[in-house]
Amino acid sequence: MYTVLAGGVGAARFLRGLTHLVPPDEVVAVVNVGDDLTHLGLRVCPDLDSITYWLARVVHPEQQWGRADETHVVASELERFGHEPWFTLGDRDLATHLHRTLRLAEGARLSQVTTEVARAFGVDLRLLPATDDEVATRITTADGRDLHFQEYWVRERGRPEVASVRLAGAEHAVPGPGVLEAIEGAEVVLVAPSNPVVSIGTILAVPGIRAAIERTTAPVVGVSPIVGGEVVRGMAHRLLPAVGAEVSAVGVARHYGELLDGWVIDRADADRAEEVGALGIACEVTDTMMDDVEVAAALAGTCLELAASIRARADR
Ligand code: GDP
Ligand code: CA
Repeated sequence: MYTVLAGGVGAARFLRGLTHLVPPDEVVAVVNVGDDLTHLGLRVCPDLDSITYWLARVVHPEQQWGRADETHVVASELERFGHEPWFTLGDRDLATHLHRTLRLAEGARLSQVTTEVARAFGVDLRLLPATDDEVATRITTADGRDLHFQEYWVRERGRPEVASVRLAGAEHAVPGPGVLEAIEGAEVVLVAPSNPVVSIGTILAVPGIRAAIERTTAPVVGVSPIVGGEVVRGMAHRLLPAVGAEVSAVGVARHYGELLDGWVIDRADADRAEEVGALGIACEVTDTMMDDVEVAAALAGTCLELAASIRARADR
């Protein structure tokens, strides 16, 4: 079993490669739910849906999230009633949120609904929400406001300076069904090139998950989301400083610290490989820009080889 800690788009691109290389039914993704929100009464889970849409090959190709061939009839009709259009949901995408909201209202757990949604899209890797409990990533801005992650990122376009980040509700949350088992029973634990703060950080904020990663005998290998000293997309460069981390391939490795046994960085950051090694983390350098599935699969292969060499060293 290959267990992957996953955010949204970066993780989806990586999972597409991994499932190209190994049978999808041997892959388990433990997915961030801190971005989830209730909007217009609907429960929306952006990271779970991004992964589902990518792996089902129905993702919007330019946007890289949401559905391809999307229309926005409902959203424009809602404006008639004065609904603020800051968080737009496409018509096709709405069906997913309607179904999920309905099932949750019937008493189903998010993990159960996630499996149903993935199956309906023909996605055969296992998607596990990090927790079934409602948690929310909250951003405290430098000017003293407390925003939901989506208010910060979508409504305010990531402009406010970030003072701190927390996963609200985490203290009462428990890992979703199968999450700890997937980490403890894994052959390899992979950390996708996802946002270290608001994707991976929020998974690790669910009590018990970090300890399971520390405890697992599986090698833990991550991929740097920082390429050539910059984020590929998203807002990691705005959030890493808020947790005291340098925006670099080394900075993220140092931030994960003892959790990592191996770290895969891009050729553009090859000159930083020695610094990663000095942290006691085995470092591999390769192409990590996953625009084609072939590159993503080769990257996944490099991660698995690095994990195998770490395991062989541990067994000696
Ligand atoms: P989000 O929830 O959609 O923002 O997605 P994630 O948290 O999974 O991923 C965001 C991170 O993935 C950003 O820091 C990007 O720099 C990184 N990322 C996206 N695509 C790639 C890629 O092809 N290669 C690498 N190395 N990082 C990527
Ligand atoms: Ca996300």
